[in-house]
Amino acid sequence: MTTFKELGLHPDVMKGLDDLGFVEPSPIQEQAIPFLLKSKKDLTALAQTGTGKTAAFALPILNQIKADGKELQAFIICPTRELCLQISQDIKKFAKYCKGVTVTAVYGGERIEFQIKSLRSGANIVVGTPGRVHDLIRRKILKLQNIKWLVLDEADEMLDMGFKDDLDAILSETPETRQTMLFSATMSKSVHAIARQYMKDAEEISIGTKNVGAENVSHEHYIVQGRDRFEALKRILDNLPGVYGILFCRTRNETQEVADKLKQANYDAEAMHGDISQGMRTKIMDRFKRKQIRLLVATDVAARGIDVNDLTHVINYNFPDQNESYTHRSGRTGRAQKSGVSIIIATPRETRRIREIENIIGKKIEYKKVPNGEDICRKQIDNFLEEVKNTKIKDTISEEYFSEISEKLKSIKKDELVKYILASKFGHLFGDKKNKYNLNADAQSFREKRIGGVSGGDTVNLKFSIGKRHGLDVKGVFGLINSKKSLLGIEVGKINIAPEYTIVSVEERRAGDVLKHLNGTNFRGKKLNITITNESAGFSRGGGERNKGYKGKKEGFRKKRY
Ligand code: ADP
Ligand code: MG
Repeated sequence: MTTFKELGLHPDVMKGLDDLGFVEPSPIQEQAIPFLLKSKKDLTALAQTGTGKTAAFALPILNQIKADGKELQAFIICPTRELCLQISQDIKKFAKYCKGVTVTAVYGGERIEFQIKSLRSGANIVVGTPGRVHDLIRRKILKLQNIKWLVLDEADEMLDMGFKDDLDAILSETPETRQTMLFSATMSKSVHAIARQYMKDAEEISIGTKNVGAENVSHEHYIVQGRDRFEALKRILDNLPGVYGILFCRTRNETQEVADKLKQANYDAEAMHGDISQGMRTKIMDRFKRKQIRLLVATDVAARGIDVNDLTHVINYNFPDQNESYTHRSGRTGRAQKSGVSIIIATPRETRRIREIENIIGKKIEYKKVPNGEDICRKQIDNFLEEVKNTKIKDTISEEYFSEISEKLKSIKKDELVKYILASKFGHLFGDKKNKYNLNADAQSFREKRIGGVSGGDTVNLKFSIGKRHGLDVKGVFGLINSKKSLLGIEVGKINIAPEYTIVSVEERRAGDVLKHLNGTNFRGKKLNITITNESAGFSRGGGERNKGYKGKKEGFRKKRY
């Protein structure tokens, strides 16, 4: 076992680590610390979320910093307030025995006056977020001209959040002589871009699949239709008694909406995203850490600062925008030697992304069926019985009182009594129609059904029960679709008009809408019946076209509104 001492750290720094209970350096620390202690070269360091990157850059800085003056020597920039606070607090803990070292955090959402005061009194290390830092530079409060170390923590995220201009402006204030370090969980395009622009001849350290965090995470996926996503989520949650985790959504709106719906359905969930005030976020995080909230519904960005080690699950309500972000998400569980599960709720057309992510993580993402009512009942009751069996009965009810209770229940046999208890506790799960509907979508049959035609996306062939003989032509097909406002913008691919019927290829994600809105409508006195079919739409109309509907421009055949 390598020790922090062997990496070359000063006893004062190690004392701080002792207090924190850090015994053994993590792999990224083992490689980055000795490098940063002896080399002045730039460094790109890649290691998964939760692998101790903060200490990997902070400890060598603390080891070399001169604490005898007020001069700013190290500047760390990171994407969010949460992360900024986290990093500055971590560094303060590491520096507990490093006499005189001062650390200041500057971030938006808090009064700038305090931060100005703190900077004026002198800070050797500043941790900041791009917007606030840029502001403080413009006010000539923060001066970066003499820094020795520049750390870009999760720099790719800063670019993704649109801080490119701030970053450019901030970095142009730093000296050429600085040593730049970039820490990230993934080698994404933006990381490459940053490395190219801001770093020279950087050493690269990458802790790949050896990562301890990742080994403890198993991966699962469910396949459901998009419209069943929320229902599937509820069942998955019902089937995970004791779940403590993060549910990832794509946008702030979706995050809020899903959290609201979960709360309405009595789940211990709370939203966490950029539109929520700082004060509120701190409260939510507090309750989450104390497990009063079991499920945090969050955007990727908001989840960055969350530092909780014993999450049982990470759930991807939707895929992240980029496959690489999946590792950030799943790395939130399976930390600190505990095991965790990362779940993806996917639609049939997203199965390709499952395979792409499998390639990135080098692990199988196991297929699971969405549980039905009976599965959930069993799971919950089993869990309850386990809890009951493990409950300590000592000192609960006095013998005297218990004989009273016994007397009251005398007429009921033990088995009957168990049934009563279960019914009173789990009755809500027994309902007749409760969770009966099979939510699992079949990825395989979907693939068989689809054919080419629509630009890029997956399509489904629909069989209309009317054809040439009834007077239907291509115009008529568009006319039918255009007659319903809710079908606006649907991509229509190949159309084959036979005498008795018509096959129309439409984009898969809207096929359900076509069925819903057109089935049963009238075409020249005949009732239209539509079904999904495997029959091909035959003759090609080329690369497919978008139904411009009521708002379409009228230019030529392709774009014409019929
Ligand atoms: P990252 O930046 O890679 O996502 P952090 O630096 O935030 O990870 O560290 C994740 C957690 O692991 C923190 O709670 C930190 O205190 C803890 N940690 C870091 N290094 C060690 C270590 N060597 N031993 C024990 N715990 C550690
Ligand atoms: Mg970090």
